[in-house]
Formats: sequence, structure tokens, C-alpha cells
Amino acid sequence: MTDSKKAPARPALKAVRGTRDLLPDQTRLWNHVETTARNLFARYGFGEIRTPVLEVTELFARGVGEETDIVSKEMFTWEDRTRAAGEGARGPESKAQSLTLRPENTAGVVRAYIEHQMANSGALRKLYYIGPQFRRERPQRGRYRQFWQIGAEVIGPPSSGSESPLRDAEILEMLASFLDDLGVRGWRLELNSVGSSQDRVRYNEVLRAALQPIRSRLCADCQRRAETNPLRVLDCKVPEDQVLIGALPRIADHISADSQAHFDAVRAALEACGVPYHLNPRLVRGLDYYTRTTFEFTVTTGLGTQNALLGGGRYDGLSEMLGGPRSPGIGFAIGEDRLILTLQAQQEEDAKGSGAAPRELLDAYIAPLTPAQNPAALSLARELRSASLRIEVGDGSFKLRKSFEIADGLARHIVLLGEDEANSEIYTVKAFANGEQTRIPRAKLAEALRGLQSSSTNFVQ
Ligand code: AMP
Repeated sequence: MTDSKKAPARPALKAVRGTRDLLPDQTRLWNHVETTARNLFARYGFGEIRTPVLEVTELFARGVGEETDIVSKEMFTWEDRTRAAGEGARGPESKAQSLTLRPENTAGVVRAYIEHQMANSGALRKLYYIGPQFRRERPQRGRYRQFWQIGAEVIGPPSSGSESPLRDAEILEMLASFLDDLGVRGWRLELNSVGSSQDRVRYNEVLRAALQPIRSRLCADCQRRAETNPLRVLDCKVPEDQVLIGALPRIADHISADSQAHFDAVRAALEACGVPYHLNPRLVRGLDYYTRTTFEFTVTTGLGTQNALLGGGRYDGLSEMLGGPRSPGIGFAIGEDRLILTLQAQQEEDAKGSGAAPRELLDAYIAPLTPAQNPAALSLARELRSASLRIEVGDGSFKLRKSFEIADGLARHIVLLGEDEANSEIYTVKAFANGEQTRIPRAKLAEALRGLQSSSTNFVQ
């Protein structure tokens, strides 16, 4: 084909707006965060649960609430026509069903708790999850359409102690330990109680009445919320609305004695374990299922205006809202993307003082000197990798100089493998850190690379 007859170049496809690829340079930190979370959660008796990313839309309409921003504006929802079980490709289509990509995971976990009759044993359930969530939000730094949450739920029948304020305090203490384990600096725990669901109904009416005379002076969203879900007005971030909202009645003055005693006990337990917190009477959170304790952790580094790192609270009525038995619970969801942004910003701050962060290096790069040594190189790599070393193998067609160029910056050592080395099984090993070159027999190679490894810097992100 001549040039003039070439098909026009096709435009390259891109990731969907608001979604991202995470490349190995980034996933290293993601894995570190996830491993830290898994290890910590195990120490508190949590087990992992994985629920589907697809759920019936009604789960979120009932659980999260029709009037919330999430359900009313942000869900990826579609009518799904699935053939009835046993029907072939030509069979009639069954009734359409509305499905949604999960915008959060608590409703799914509680659905699974009910579906698998986890209440029956009478025990307290401690479940955690790590996975993607989907919301059709306007993408910006720290706000994506596919984002990850690391979350946990503690749920059980009342006889399991699921209502105890100790559970709330334990969750908050665990989160403080998690952020400390990761080295997150300057986190701040904001705490509030929104009372029982009856308290909320009463407070909603007080708020609705108080909003009536000022409604027309609020932003368009708040004018709508004042009618549909007055509590959400307290979440408003529009600067012009703040003075009016600040003067509204406070939920703390309208919660029952029971709710107050519960909240006081949570605070006392936090104080006993030395977890600092700040009371924030406006923290009501956007989801309808919250009762009593609500909380958020914010940070000062890296997130700009999207400074909420994680949020959560109690949801004593959620199981019943979803058709299950009475099972109070409490949980949280950490925005993993935001946690990573925070850690990266901190690392950048630290690197300013101490030079660029070192790269993670492999233990060795094996350089076969001619194509004839490729099989021997692969066999040597297999042996070293099974000894838990991190190895890359070059190619015998590369010139020695090119092998050195690739190996330097990728691995701590280069292992040269020519015909002599293949026959004698004694290899020339060069350490890039100090330029030293040694000859090492095969039987001692793994041990030597490991020994050299511990004497050079081992970068842990
Ligand atoms: P929520 O489920 O709305 O209570 O959110 C819990 C946490 O998830 C927030 O504190 C954020 O850190 C994170 N989060 C919520 N929405 C997004 C989003 N669109 N993009 C990134 N992180 C988010």
C-alpha cells in the first residue's frame, strides 16, 4: 500500500472522564495503604467482605435516601433487560430492572448481612471492604467518578452490644491508629451526634420552621433542601449562606436524653484512650441513614477544598429500612484516593528538605552476553526469584553498554552471564551503589545479593 492509500490514523481512545489509570509508580503506595488497613483491621477482629459493584437501584433509594444528592443526582443507573433464567439468546426478555453502580458500600454490606442471615448467630459482625464506588460528580482534584473507599461496618442485633458507645469509640480509635500508622500528619476528627431517628424527625420540623422566613435568601440548592431534606442545609458550603445557617437551631439542643447520654459515653471513651476530637454541631453528613454519632476526619495537607478524608457514623435503623431484623451498626468510609493525595503531598513536602525520594530498585538485573545465554539467564532468574529476590532479565542481543544503562536505575546489581559464567557457574556481579565488582558462585549468589541488599538503602514508600 502506498502512503497516499494508508487508512486515516484512528484517534487514540482515552479513559472516561472522572476515571483514572493507576500505574505501578502509584499502585505501590495504594498497596501499602491497603496492606496497612488489612493488618490493622485484622487486629480489631474485622473480616473482609466483597459485595458486587452492581446492586438494584432500590437499595440506595431506600438506604441512602431519595432526597440525598447521591441518589437524586449522582448515580449511574440504567434499566437492565435480563433474560429470564433458562431462556436462550432468543427467549423473551424479562421485565426491566433498574440497576445502579454502587455509589457507596454500606448499603451493599447491610444488604448482604440481611441476605446471609448474619443476625441469626446473635454475634456482633465486624466487616471491612476495599473497592471502587461510582458517582456522577463534576470531576476535580480529589473528586472522581470512580473512586475507592476503604470502609468497615460493625453491626449486630442489640443483644450483641452493637449499640454500645464503646463500639463508636473503638471505631474512632482504630481510625486514629490507622492514620498514625500511615504517618498522616495534622488529621482532625470532627464529631457530632444527630440523635435517634425520632430526634431527627423532630429536629427536621424545628429546622423547617426556622428555614421558612430565610429560605428566599439562601442558595438555590438550599431552597430546595429546605423543603425536601432540611438537615442537608447544614452541609451547605456556599460562603454567602454561612451566616444565616450558623444562626439556625442546633441539633445538639434537640436530641433526647438517651442520645445525649450515648454521645457523652462515646466522648468519655475517646478521652480515656487519648484520641483528640473537635465537636462540630453542623456535621450531619449527606446520607439519610445516619443516627446518633457522626464523624469526619479532615486533613490540612494536599486536598485543598476537598479536605474530608473519611466520614462515617451510626445507622441504627438501616437494617430495618432494607427489610432486615433490628441490627444497629456503625461504620466509616475512607476516601482512598484522597488519602493517597495526602500522603503524596506529605512526601513531596518531606522531599523538599531531603532531596528527591529514592526509587524502589530491583535486587538484580541479569545480563546475558549473547542470545545463546538467554535460556541460562532465565533459569538463573527463576532460581533467584524463588529465593524471593526481585529480578529482571535482559536479552543477549543487547550490547553490554546498553545492559548497563538499563540496569543502572532499575536494579541494585547487574549479574553478567557470558559463556564462561554459564560453564563455570561463577558470575560477575557489580553493585551500582559503590561500583564494586565481585565474582560469586551460583550457590552463594542469592545469599550474596540479599546480603548486599541489606547493606544498601531499601526504599519503603
Ligand atoms: P461519603 O460516602 O460521601 O460519606 O464519603 C466518604 C469519603 O469518600 C469522603 O470523605 C471522601 O474522602 C471520599 N469520597 C466521596 N466522594 C468522592 C469522590 N467523588 N471522589 C473521591 N473521593 C470521594
